[in-house]
Order: sequence, then C-alpha cells, then structure tokens
Amino acid sequence: MGIAFGPHCKIQSIAAHRRRIRRHCYLSRAKRLLQYRHLLKAQKVSDLLQIASPILPEETRARLNAVYAQVPAVSCAGCDAPGSCCELTDAEYNDDFATMYPLYAVEYINIIDYVRSHFDPKKQRELLNTVEERPRRCPFLTPEGGCSIHPARPLTCRTYGILNQVSQVNATAESARDQVPYQWISSFLSTERYTVCPKTKLKEATKVDAHMKAMVSLEYERELIYLSDTLNWLDADRLELFQQITKKTHPTRWTWGGFNALTQKP
Ligand code: SF4
Ligand code: SF4
Repeated sequence: MGIAFGPHCKIQSIAAHRRRIRRHCYLSRAKRLLQYRHLLKAQKVSDLLQIASPILPEETRARLNAVYAQVPAVSCAGCDAPGSCCELTDAEYNDDFATMYPLYAVEYINIIDYVRSHFDPKKQRELLNTVEERPRRCPFLTPEGGCSIHPARPLTCRTYGILNQVSQVNATAESARDQVPYQWISSFLSTERYTVCPKTKLKEATKVDAHMKAMVSLEYERELIYLSDTLNWLDADRLELFQQITKKTHPTRWTWGGFNALTQKP
C-alpha cells in the first residue's frame, strides 16, 4: 500500500495544506467535463493506469524534485490534531477553501506515477476515480492523519506550516516591496496568510530566507508552470474538449479531482 512511513514518523512528516480557491476559476469545470466525456472517442483515450512505464520523463522529475528540495522541512511532532490541516471545516468549505490546491499538471503526473507504484489496483482506481474538486477531506489523508503520498506530495503541501505566524508572512512581503511587482506581493499575501501553522517546528532553518524569497518572487510557480506546459500527456480529443470548456489552451494547474475528470475513461 502507499503509506510510505511508519506510525511514528507519520505525524512528524506530514506537511499539509489547504488554500482558498477562487470560485469561477476552475471550479465546476470537472463536472462539465464529466458531462461531455461521451464525446471523446474511447479508443483514443489514454488510461493512465494502463501505461507500463513512468509517465513523467526523468529529466522533468529531476527538475521537479529540485524545486521540492529548496523547501525547508518542518516537523509536526506533538501536533494534537495531525491531518486537521488536510480537511476542511464547514466554515472553510463555505469560504472557498480547497485541500491540495493548486496542483500543477507536472505534480499531478508525478503523483500518478507514485500511486501506480505504491498502491494496489483497487486503491489506484479509487484514487483516480475521485472527481470531486473540493472534497472535505484530502483523498490521500490516512485515518491516522498522515499523508499516504508523502514523498510525492505537491508543493502546496510542502510549503504549509513553514511559518508559524502571519506576522512573518507580512515581514517577508514588506522586505520584498521594492524588489518585485506589487501584484506578486499581493498574491503572496492573499495565499500565504492562510498557510501558517503555530504548531510546526522548522527542521531546516537555513533554507528559510531563500525559500521565502522564492515564494514572494513566484520562482517555484514559474518553474512548475514551465514544466507543466512542456508535458504532452493529453490526446487531441481530450485537449480539444478541455479547450472548449475552459477557453484555456491546456491544463496547467487544477485540483486532483479536476485532473481526474479530464483523464478518466468515458
Ligand atoms: S496530499 Fe498529503 S499533505 Fe497534501 S493535503 Fe493531502 S494528505 Fe495532506
Ligand atoms: S502541526 Fe500543523 S501542519 Fe502539522 S499536522 Fe498539525 S496542524 Fe497540520
């Protein structure tokens, strides 16, 4: 099964995430895709679970892991509610929060490769059949509050809880004020204020300054967008349907359920 760590380190190694998702962004598009899937020609549909070798090119995976390596590790040891950050309360749900969002296409494929090699076929199908864009509980959260895809978890989960207080987020934004466009700072503040956790402990403090600089200057995001946009993983029918529904050229970032709706067999 896909739980890659023992009970003790489950709690220590979890890094979690929930982030506000804008309504009318990609929300509900998974439902629309499901509605139109019958238009796809079944024989052309790539079933990601049937492909024998890893889908993500090794060079791309190395670049993705290089981004992840820049993020300081945190410890959640002693947390009194492990995994609570991977679930939505009623208030968070009503306020447009989503777990595991944003998920970049390159990260989605990386997780697919992990799921295919660490979970049994029944669980693989269950995970890939999840098309809910904002489930109350992340589909990868274990009953004990651990992350079942911890080595492959997305950037958004890795960056959660690195800072303990909102004042640290504000200080980072302030120090970048004359160095990056105002819109970047505004975007940084509007998301990162919701990702602090007072209960984590930093394990790699020396990485923090460079990491926060990368966050406020959108360095990680640019690399993940580039890597996602270089992937050629959708067949022509599927891409065309996506373009018709979203008016975007290709999927760069979405939710786990949204990507699943796109890749599912009709
Ligand atoms: S992928 Fe793992 S860390 Fe991220 S929200 Fe899900 S359970 Fe939590
Ligand atoms: S310490 Fe914070 S980030 Fe870690 S599991 Fe607990 S609530 Fe989540």
